[in-house]
Amino acid sequence: MEEFTERYKDCSRVEWAWLQDLYSAVRDRLHPAVGASLRVPVEQLAEAVLRSVRRTVGSQSLPVSYTFVSVSELLSRQRTSCCSSLTWSTGQYRERAEEAEQAVPNHKALPRTNLLLIGLLCDGRASGQCDGFWRVRDVTGSVHCEVLKSSPLWLGKLMLFPTWNYISQDAPGQESGYLELIESPICVIPEPTASDPTETLSEVIGVRKAARLLRQKVSAGVRVCVSGEVGVVCPLLVIAGKSFFCLILAEGDSTVPILVTDPECVYWRQCVCVGQSVCVSALRVCSVRGWAGHRVLSVTSHSRLHPNPHAQEDSENTHSQSDSRTHSQSDSQSDTHTHSEPDPHRPQSLTDTRLQEDTHSEGDPAQGGAGPADSVYPVRRKLSRIISYRGRISSVLNAEAGLYEIDRKVGLCLAYQPLRKWCSGLRPGAEIELQNVHFLFRPSPFFPDVVLCVCLRSSVCVMAFSPLRSKVATLRSDGPLLCYLLERNLGVSEFLWLCYCHAALTERLCPRWVCEGRVCVVAGRLLQFVLGEEKKRKKRDIYREMLQDPHSCPLTEYCVGSPSVCVWSVRELCDWMEKESWESLSLSSLVPPSAPYLTQAQLNPLLSWSTHTLLMHSGSAHTDRLLVGVLEFSSSRASVRLVDQSAAVECVCVENNQSEDQYTAINTAWTGCLVCIRRCTLVMERFLKTDFPSWKHLDQHRHISHRHCRVYIQVCMEDLHILSPSASMSTILSERRREGGRTAGVKEGQQRDGRREEEEGVKEGIQMDECSGQSAQTGRMKRKRETEERRERCIKKPRDHSNHCDDPSAVGSASASSDPCVSLLFRVDSKQGVAFRNLQTSNETRGLRLSFVTTVTCLGDVQRWDRDPKNGRVEERERAGGEKKMELQFVDSSVRWFPLLQPGSEYRLITLHTQDVSVLCGSSVPVRGGVTLLSSPALLIQPQWRIHTLTQSLLCAQIQTLMTVSEVLHCSSDVVSFYGIISQRITLQEERGQTSAVQSLINAKDGVVERDLRVRLTLQDSEAPDQSLQVYLDLSHTPYIPGLLAGATVLLHHFQRKVSVVRNVYCCSLPISCVTVTGFGSLKPRPPPPMMHLGRWAPARAEQSIVGRVRAHVVCVLSLQLKWVCSLCGSVSKQAVCTRSCPPCDSTTAVFQAEAKVAVEDGTGEAQVWFSTETVAELLSLAVTEWEGIQRHVRVKGHLRVYARGRNMVCDVDPDDPLVRYLCALCSSSTVCRQLCLTCSLRSHRPEKAQLRKVSRGEREFLTKFPQSLQLHCTHIHTSH
Ligand SMILES: [Zn+2]
Ligand SMILES: [Zn+2]
Repeated sequence: MEEFTERYKDCSRVEWAWLQDLYSAVRDRLHPAVGASLRVPVEQLAEAVLRSVRRTVGSQSLPVSYTFVSVSELLSRQRTSCCSSLTWSTGQYRERAEEAEQAVPNHKALPRTNLLLIGLLCDGRASGQCDGFWRVRDVTGSVHCEVLKSSPLWLGKLMLFPTWNYISQDAPGQESGYLELIESPICVIPEPTASDPTETLSEVIGVRKAARLLRQKVSAGVRVCVSGEVGVVCPLLVIAGKSFFCLILAEGDSTVPILVTDPECVYWRQCVCVGQSVCVSALRVCSVRGWAGHRVLSVTSHSRLHPNPHAQEDSENTHSQSDSRTHSQSDSQSDTHTHSEPDPHRPQSLTDTRLQEDTHSEGDPAQGGAGPADSVYPVRRKLSRIISYRGRISSVLNAEAGLYEIDRKVGLCLAYQPLRKWCSGLRPGAEIELQNVHFLFRPSPFFPDVVLCVCLRSSVCVMAFSPLRSKVATLRSDGPLLCYLLERNLGVSEFLWLCYCHAALTERLCPRWVCEGRVCVVAGRLLQFVLGEEKKRKKRDIYREMLQDPHSCPLTEYCVGSPSVCVWSVRELCDWMEKESWESLSLSSLVPPSAPYLTQAQLNPLLSWSTHTLLMHSGSAHTDRLLVGVLEFSSSRASVRLVDQSAAVECVCVENNQSEDQYTAINTAWTGCLVCIRRCTLVMERFLKTDFPSWKHLDQHRHISHRHCRVYIQVCMEDLHILSPSASMSTILSERRREGGRTAGVKEGQQRDGRREEEEGVKEGIQMDECSGQSAQTGRMKRKRETEERRERCIKKPRDHSNHCDDPSAVGSASASSDPCVSLLFRVDSKQGVAFRNLQTSNETRGLRLSFVTTVTCLGDVQRWDRDPKNGRVEERERAGGEKKMELQFVDSSVRWFPLLQPGSEYRLITLHTQDVSVLCGSSVPVRGGVTLLSSPALLIQPQWRIHTLTQSLLCAQIQTLMTVSEVLHCSSDVVSFYGIISQRITLQEERGQTSAVQSLINAKDGVVERDLRVRLTLQDSEAPDQSLQVYLDLSHTPYIPGLLAGATVLLHHFQRKVSVVRNVYCCSLPISCVTVTGFGSLKPRPPPPMMHLGRWAPARAEQSIVGRVRAHVVCVLSLQLKWVCSLCGSVSKQAVCTRSCPPCDSTTAVFQAEAKVAVEDGTGEAQVWFSTETVAELLSLAVTEWEGIQRHVRVKGHLRVYARGRNMVCDVDPDDPLVRYLCALCSSSTVCRQLCLTCSLRSHRPEKAQLRKVSRGEREFLTKFPQSLQLHCTHIHTSH
């Protein structure tokens, strides 16, 4: 030390201390590592180090602000990424940082530290692993490093590193960071090269000659030295633990492949790049097993790599790397000619003109729009082009899947190359050069239009490291996405979709339902579902892919924009539906043709409820969407929901059986199943509160005082595709598998078959050994996969107690399932509807609570179990003990079982953590006041109890217990249960002054917005469409029932049958009534009403039919009334001013109304027919203009009535008015009194007593009792001649 410091006595104190540090650093860390081999003393080494530092800094002053750092110190102490440079001034550093920050926004530059790093540059052979990567080593340890351009002469030399980035990674189990050498290292002790290149180069042959040599048969044993330009550099592969790579030298049309397999030469991968001239010595000719019939050159242990002395490239000990950088940059920019063939030498930027050119050739001007909504391309395959490209990474899209974005518009996919252990400098802000990459245009609508994709023949080279800080993702070599890609040999479009789907699912399901590691499995299943039939894909052949001309690889051909299916979150769905709900609203389409004649009170109820349905299915242009979510049963609404982390949407589920009839039979096992839905009906129900004065105001939205919508989906069970089954569903599926698919559930069988194939696929189909180059991992991976398959349901159940019904621990921990429980087998006989009822249970407070009751038959005694039997097979003992009736009460959150309990089906009720059989025995209602109740014992279902569906009743069995609509019409029971198809739904007006007490409660609990909702459904007989029945439903005490739409099949239990005064039959809901929607969209066209004879219709009335067609002759017009009425109060309006005076009405909106009463006869009998406004004009045979003219005339007076007196028509006021005279004449003329064909309905009115009329015959007068004539209302005039 003294000897060394002696020479610098003149130095300042600081410099002296710095020199001491230098000396001890050399003595402790460097000399032990190199001193022995170089045979130099410590002092001499320290001198050399100091010289190189001075040379680097470029002045005699010492960089005293810099601290010597050892490799281990760097790794252990440097927690944040940083950069250090001996050569940059502060200004240079800032300039560089600012430039980069501007180029890639939202990123900050790496902070600068003053560290001085000196070490040996080696390739890991000292530690016994020649993996082909550079490492910087000193006595304390070694660190991975990335180099821009390296020389084979650096190997094993002691180097000073002037400028570098240190990128720290704080992932557990990883090395803590790596180096990016920005400037080339400087050799501390320059020494003559070991072998003289000129000697070997004397026997150099060119590429053409070498290619000829390879074609000759007798070339074995020859050692050659080949010189040429590098055309292709393949990535480093690892097969069975051995690293190797290929490169292709080119000269004109001739190429010669060189295989670099020798471990000591593998580091050349870092030293060669496309376009460089090199000379490789001591190559031998050999054949490759994986590439039959072809011969290649292979390196030997004597081989050396020489950068061609004649080439411009001089990467040895250069001090100015930035020169070469700018050189190639300008080179790339000046290059604009198009590449129809691989031209590896000139990388280029995809200029805008280039992009545009491609866009036009696609015939679609949409650019850059990765939005899934408008990006549906026809599925077609296209060939990719091979290009070279240079650009700057602007963001990392998905590091694990190797997806990046360059220059903010181009995608880069590295997934088809082996994963880089380190991110190898691919950070935002890095400039990269891609050689021989595939140019794909619109491979996926979810990624940039242009995607560059690398294969095993491409090389990715960092040209300038990023000066920016970035989060460095830890990349696992067994990343699930890449593994899936290799297992399935996916095409690039499919892989990109998988990545899109993976990200979407992670966001929506992770970690609540799917753990992170399983997302890819689910995404893979979804991909398979989307692709449908999976075609056999070619396995990758690595040698062919790397070496063969013309080039062929999985990227040569790709699908344009397919799959384009967009995976919607529940939130996106709901938002879209709400938006669509209002955008599709057209008020004028909701009102009938008679709308112009309706008053405010008549018009607005027609607008109060409307519905909009859309079929979501594959193939429809703008709805190629997919829903993914977990099925859950909502306790607050007694309904089924599809949920993800974003939202929940209600589902009306129906099941199709083979005969296409639909019936509800949702099994309890569906709870917790992760499903995807591609086909369903989106239903939007709109509720409006409006006060439109007349139809003319429909475009004025200020008259809408309140609006809201309910959105939900209707789905057939067979359209639910299980992505991950619940524990109970797995039981069902495996049970069916065991039965060999003999059961009726054919479609679920198909689903299951698909699954089985898929599982087998996972087990046998791993063919990643060669491609991934990590065959050692294959076995491990495979085993891992299998175990993963076994613990299939790592799908987590919601922790939320009220929401889950299945035991989450059941599969995860088999040992924990020795939990005692008791069970009861029962069959549902009937169930009541869910409603808010006044209940008192145990000692809780009295109040309105959501509840329902089912009567069941217990099929045996209560059983004890060691572990939860769930929905497993029924054991014999469970049926022992005889049947007995019981009432099950479901209150509050237990109402979630409502949609699952169906009459006729069998269930198992389970109480966990107990062995006490009395829990499920039920209790009789206590006798009060000496009154004996004859009811069955009752059991209050506790929220934590569970119910499992065991057997499901079929539609026919259920339906058999119900009446049809026609049977209801003709039966005499008071309470009926029946089924039919809804043909019409009308919201009834709120009854004024009657506010229900429960309303506020329902609002609070359910968020219900409809108040006192009462609807009238017209139910059609499913077999006889002419038979229909009106059902009045009071929904004010029940949770909203979705699915009550025209066309839906409904089962109605416990409804009151009533008969009106005209003997019209209708039904009303009772508090115990239960409505079940079992199918939809099956409304049969209603046949035309029957032809009726008046003589036969009159006595039978409603028993015959309510609606009928009549062919009759108009005898005379009994009365005709024309008037303008106030839309608000209905009083007569003159000149649009309401005439009501007490209290005065200031409405100025009037509507025209007309009514005619006509006597008709058809030979069998006679009837009085009423015509309302919309039919009067046709009755009078008036043209539109005439009719409008009459309306204008009446406007002045407001009111006009003519009626028959004797044979004439008269008017009480103003008989001389021309209009009156015209009308009187018209009504008596043959224009009106003619033959007509009418559709009429019975007019509902109180039957009057038979009339007494005087009849004179001759001179005698008789007083005769005439029966009330048949009174009809005309709804339609068919013929007017
Ligand atoms: Zn390729
Ligand atoms: Zn009025």
